[in-house]
Amino acid sequence: MDFSFTQDQETLRAHLNELLDEVCPPQYAERCDNEAHPPREAYEALGKHGWFGLIVPVEWGGSGGSAIELAILLEEAGRHFEELGTWLFRTLTYGGYAVLTHGTQAQKETLLPKLVRGELSVCFGLTEPHSGSDAAALTTKATAVDGGYVINGQKIFTSGMDISDYCVLVTRTSTGAKKQQGITNFLVDTRLPGIEIRKIKTMGTRAIGTTQVFYTDVKVPASAVLGEVDRGWEAVDAYLWYERLGLSAARTGAALAAFDYALEYAKTRKQFGRPIGQFQAISHKLADMKVMLDVARTLVYRFAWLMSQGKATRVDAAVVKLQTSEAYKAVSDMGLQILGGYGYCMEYPMQRFFRDSRLATIGVGTSEIQRNIIARGLGL
Ligand SMILES: Cc1cc2nc3c(=O)[nH]c(=O)nc-3n(C[C@H](O)[C@H](O)[C@H](O)COP(=O)(O)OP(=O)(O)OC[C@H]3O[C@@H](n4cnc5c(N)ncnc54)[C@H](O)[C@@H]3O)c2cc1C
Repeated sequence: MDFSFTQDQETLRAHLNELLDEVCPPQYAERCDNEAHPPREAYEALGKHGWFGLIVPVEWGGSGGSAIELAILLEEAGRHFEELGTWLFRTLTYGGYAVLTHGTQAQKETLLPKLVRGELSVCFGLTEPHSGSDAAALTTKATAVDGGYVINGQKIFTSGMDISDYCVLVTRTSTGAKKQQGITNFLVDTRLPGIEIRKIKTMGTRAIGTTQVFYTDVKVPASAVLGEVDRGWEAVDAYLWYERLGLSAARTGAALAAFDYALEYAKTRKQFGRPIGQFQAISHKLADMKVMLDVARTLVYRFAWLMSQGKATRVDAAVVKLQTSEAYKAVSDMGLQILGGYGYCMEYPMQRFFRDSRLATIGVGTSEIQRNIIARGLGL
């Protein structure tokens, strides 16, 4: 494969960075994290400038970009502020990709124009208190009634539920021989009666964070079903691949920002009469960080390319998720060590990278689960 970007892709990245430098500078990211303020202004600015239409086909008003353009968008958004990147990818995955691949004509007509205008926020409700890594063991129940369904159950870690218009909610509509059977996805309006949202306090990703959601006799119309009744798991699997691409790109962007900060610090902070970057203990750390990031970026764009060619496999998705998450975690940890005591202080951004990166090896399938998938792919 060819790893070079086209001139159009380079131009796209340059235009995007011009906008992000203006609407999402480091002090804005810091304020959002400190004040638990979702980066709404930056999100809306991206919408106003047409960035949400990037992966939407031209016939729906978008620019018809591929997974590679998507990776560029999310890498740069994540480099400016990880939570802007993750909010963006959630909406693009569940309000864009999921609707495009499994939505009805009516769902597309309702949601895609709003998405393209940047007036939509969509989250994803899969995890439950008793089904985390074993996600298909979910029990939130949707019961067919006259004209629609009634949903009862509990979800945990539905990130962005409190700031979203819709949630792609994964439910059980029947029981089959396998737990993956009998699953149905819904596009649920987050403001429906019977939905109760409770914010969960977390160590990182504090601008948007995550929530626990209780569904009590929530009535949804039959038109809210996304995809086929009882056959939703296959779709969830596809969304998770897409999510692994988006998250890996956004987190690699954030890791690059952590690296840049640590590198600059190592060049300017002096001890024993010289910049600390001249001590081999520090310079080798930075060399190792660069190698980890080069590998992570290469895997992100390799996976994006494989997706754009329809050649990506489950193992490819696990490889990119595992490597980029572990790289982000390691780079932030090493970055904090390079800053010494200042890395531990809240006035410096490294602690935010350190806290945020800790989620990377847990969310959307833990590192252990990615290793299981890769090992199975090896026939083990
Ligand atoms: C901040 C945050 C945001 C999130 N956002 C969302 C969201 O928007 N939507 C959503 O649906 N979910 C979301 N999640 C949920 C996330 O995907 C799960 O936390 C994750 O899949 C792990 O599930 P668990 O926490 O229940 O851990 P468990 O599954 O209980 O795992 C606990 C430990 O056991 C290990 N383990 C479990 N099974 C195996 C196995 N078979 N082999 C080896 N090790 C194993 C795990 O790797 C882990 O180390 C979020 C989580 C967090 C913390």
